[in-house]
Amino acid sequence: MRDEIAPHVQDITRALGGKVSEQEIEKELSNYVNVYRVSLDTAKRSIVKKHGGNPAHLSLGISKTIRELVPGENSVDLLVRIVSVNEKSIDSDNGARTILYGIFGDPTATVPFTAWEPLPFEPARGDVVRVANAYTKEYRGQVQVNLGVRSVVTREAPDALPPAHSGGGGPSPASVRATPVKVVELREGSSNVALTARVLGVERREVDVDGGKKAVFSGVLADGTAKTQFSAWKDFDLHEGDVLRVEGAYVKSWRGIPQVSFDERALVKKLEDAELPPMDELGRSPRMWIEDLSERGGGVDVTVRGILIDLKEGSGLVYRCPECKRVLRKGVCRIHGEVSGTPDLRVKAVLDDGSGALTAVFGKDLTEGLLDKTVEECIAQAKEAMSQEVIRDELADLLVAQPVEARGNVTSDDYGLMMIVDQAKILKVDVREEARAMLEELEGPA
Ligand SMILES: [Zn+2]
Repeated sequence: MRDEIAPHVQDITRALGGKVSEQEIEKELSNYVNVYRVSLDTAKRSIVKKHGGNPAHLSLGISKTIRELVPGENSVDLLVRIVSVNEKSIDSDNGARTILYGIFGDPTATVPFTAWEPLPFEPARGDVVRVANAYTKEYRGQVQVNLGVRSVVTREAPDALPPAHSGGGGPSPASVRATPVKVVELREGSSNVALTARVLGVERREVDVDGGKKAVFSGVLADGTAKTQFSAWKDFDLHEGDVLRVEGAYVKSWRGIPQVSFDERALVKKLEDAELPPMDELGRSPRMWIEDLSERGGGVDVTVRGILIDLKEGSGLVYRCPECKRVLRKGVCRIHGEVSGTPDLRVKAVLDDGSGALTAVFGKDLTEGLLDKTVEECIAQAKEAMSQEVIRDELADLLVAQPVEARGNVTSDDYGLMMIVDQAKILKVDVREEARAMLEELEGPA
């Protein structure tokens, strides 16, 4: 470790013009990295700033693999293969100029890059290059490597990097081939994946990107294993019903649900209609175990069967802030103070299917349906009983310990999984028996 950080200690000392001793810097750097678990790059910058120096004077980057990259690093060194490289003309303050963009790969992963300055050689697909002083940013939800004025790019021998995933035989396009996945296997952070799926719906919308408007085509894809939301950052002329082969997509997540994005770097082909089952079959909501949803981070339009084991606080008749829709506590909004609330009905219940549990949220219409009465009737009932709790109690009597089937989107955050229920029904089947059968399948008969 000491040998590893020695050059960085010298780099910091140099950036500070020698005003702080190497011994002191070594101690600080070792503390940041080993005790506080700060990345070496961040630690170096923090120490320089702390002593009144300018982190831009640091000259030694941190050598990393692509998998280790995170957004916001200011001085990264990489040894990578050029997976693809293209030119594009952009408008700048000094008129139109050409930049390069494409994909870098190493044995750990691939990452998009943009070179804002001309390279000292003509880069080609398959070249192995050493990059010093690159910086990373988050772009459309994934890490991107940027090469700027301070970056130095040199060409290395082709065998400086082992050919990844190619099973030997030297560098080949196989090392950069997109990883085939099913929709159910999509995981946040994957890049360069390939999938075959049918467009269940697509719409065009405009979003603000870097101060300008850009068209994005988003909707839902399905392949029989699951559904996923997608965003296409280029007009691939997508229509409802199209069967697509997408190579070079990446996966980010929205509230924990993995979703697919692809742009001009991706290869998008339309396939024969018969390649996948028809729309109505793919449009069905797949039945999933909560354990699997938990492992994926959520899911789009999934069906879960389980038992409602508890009603959470905030179920029943509630009053919402007219400004921000938050549920009031004793007539008070956390943000807007004392307000005159609008009445609403909802259920927040814990749904357990034997493999795991999630919080199922039923909105007004579903709750009215379960109670077989309207919000107005509930208000009258609460007034008469002089307590809002009567509605909650009635819901608990109806729902707790009932087997239900619920369909909706499942999101996740620090508090776990949450399903916003679109459809629900009380079941007759014995879900306990089903859960037992599943456990036996997993663990073998007891
Ligand atoms: Zn409010």
